[in-house]
Amino acid sequence: MTSQPFSSAGVRWDLADLFASHDDPHIAETLADCRARAEVFSRRFRNTIRTAGGPTPAHLLAAILALEALEEDLKRLGTFADLLYAADTSRPEHRNLREQVELAAIEIGNLVLFFELEWMDLADEVAASLLGHPVLAGYRHYLERLRRQRPHILSEAEERLLNERDNTGRRAFGRLFTELTTSLRFPLERDGRTDTLIMSEVLALVHHKDRTVRQRAYETLFGVLSKHELVLTAVYETLIQDHLTLDRLRRFPHPMAERHLDNEIDEKAVERMTAVTEENYGIAQQYFRLKARLLGLPKLALYDQYAPVSEALPACSLDRARDIVLEAFGDFSPTFREIAQQFFDRRWIDAEVRPGKRGGAFCASPAPSLHPYVLCNYTDNLRDVMTVAHELGHGLHGWLARKLTLFNYDPPLTMAETASVFGEFLVFDHLLRVQEDPRVQLALLCGKIEDTCATVFRQNVLTRFEQAVFERRKGGRFTPDAICQTWIEANRPYYGDAVEMTDGYRWGWSYIPHFIHSRFYCYSYVFGQLLVLSLYRRYKEDGAGFVPRYLTLLEAGGSDAPEVLLGPLGVDFHDPAFWQQGFDEIQSLVDRAEQLAGTLAFQPSGGS
Ligand SMILES: [Zn+2]
Repeated sequence: MTSQPFSSAGVRWDLADLFASHDDPHIAETLADCRARAEVFSRRFRNTIRTAGGPTPAHLLAAILALEALEEDLKRLGTFADLLYAADTSRPEHRNLREQVELAAIEIGNLVLFFELEWMDLADEVAASLLGHPVLAGYRHYLERLRRQRPHILSEAEERLLNERDNTGRRAFGRLFTELTTSLRFPLERDGRTDTLIMSEVLALVHHKDRTVRQRAYETLFGVLSKHELVLTAVYETLIQDHLTLDRLRRFPHPMAERHLDNEIDEKAVERMTAVTEENYGIAQQYFRLKARLLGLPKLALYDQYAPVSEALPACSLDRARDIVLEAFGDFSPTFREIAQQFFDRRWIDAEVRPGKRGGAFCASPAPSLHPYVLCNYTDNLRDVMTVAHELGHGLHGWLARKLTLFNYDPPLTMAETASVFGEFLVFDHLLRVQEDPRVQLALLCGKIEDTCATVFRQNVLTRFEQAVFERRKGGRFTPDAICQTWIEANRPYYGDAVEMTDGYRWGWSYIPHFIHSRFYCYSYVFGQLLVLSLYRRYKEDGAGFVPRYLTLLEAGGSDAPEVLLGPLGVDFHDPAFWQQGFDEIQSLVDRAEQLAGTLAFQPSGGS
């Protein structure tokens, strides 16, 4: 086990609310029961939704309720399998359970697939009269969302065929990517010896205080990746081609259209946001120049972006982190505090660092009838406090939305980070207030600005890259060189002359999982972060009056489209001024960091 025990030792979650253990007989019983219910569902409802005059509202409701209950039980199974696996990935019985549940879910999904297809197939006027019926009011948004897919679905036989073929098609290429990138080893020379690292370890070295180590980590990362150019290019190119083919078959007008439809957002709003983000790249460049001064460098290189600006960050135990988060949340709203408290009191959080446990952090909010769970790897670092705040923010969202039914529960992708990033801001401001050492304040500010740049500006660069690469693919097959060149071109406006892009960086696109597993996902991060920045600005302006409106937003989960949910908060994302508010907030953080650095007459630390 680790040589250095952290204060989080022993803080493990209790999954007993889901199942007792991996061999709990209830698991097999629930699986069998779900399968049986799916068969009953199929016998009872097949060919009764797509009828000439349509089903009665009561019949349609009965189908929805049966399906929702079935999915809720599948969520319980799936979440248990996932959480058990995340808690200890090294145990084969965990992996087996996960696979067993996944396969059962596909099988059951195929049994009930007809329902959505039959609903989508109904004539518009029949569907419209059902959508207006009060009996179905609770599912109007769910049903409407499905209807919007109507122009893009294929026949049931074709959908099933695609589902099965995907396993040896796009999903196989996704697996190949994951297996390749997780199998890579990176030989890193330092202090006269060579360590063999995995990718996450190399990437973590961008935070190292020693410049030579950071530089070497980057060179090693890109050096190893470039040796696999053939496979990495072939995988990406195949997936782009697959995407374009499916777009053609499903009649999507452009490569981002499917994502926009899922996100319930229109192309114009996204294009506006992207354009306003580009106009504000100068804020990031102002920060990069400041950071170069803080590090005592004439100019920042790519590998200096996340270098620590001081060694002044104090340690923070998990108990202290809990108190900080509860206090910061409590200042905003007692409800926030009470909910967050439960995660610690009722063991809904797994914070311990231990071998075999999944890295990083996440929050799972499986279903309204269950409560959320948080996983993190708490290492007594002040930055970890922000991670806890982030995940507990997700937890608040999941808990507050629990009065909804499952089909109204999950917020759309663009709003999935609303509570988490907001929670982080509450804790960040609180920390900034209570820390008296200006060096610590500056380090906190820099950390926040860097996170924000990574989520807003960099994700915008990734989106622009994807757009360009898809455009370019229409002109014929790629060479690895063409992708690398497109990548550098997408990065240039962001870094400008403020950051030196190193040679190897041309391979910077090749390890980003979103390009492989969820194309055009990245703009949702930009959207989510900017949304929270402007909501947070509004909270600072309106004070307590903002709180109930914000709670109502979280309680509404995914019960309607983002535009409708955000309306009462005065958000209009077709208005460039709305997006600009977010950038004004980032600008004020950078200005504040500059001021603080000025008063400190900063002595650079941590040079090579
Ligand atoms: Zn998150």
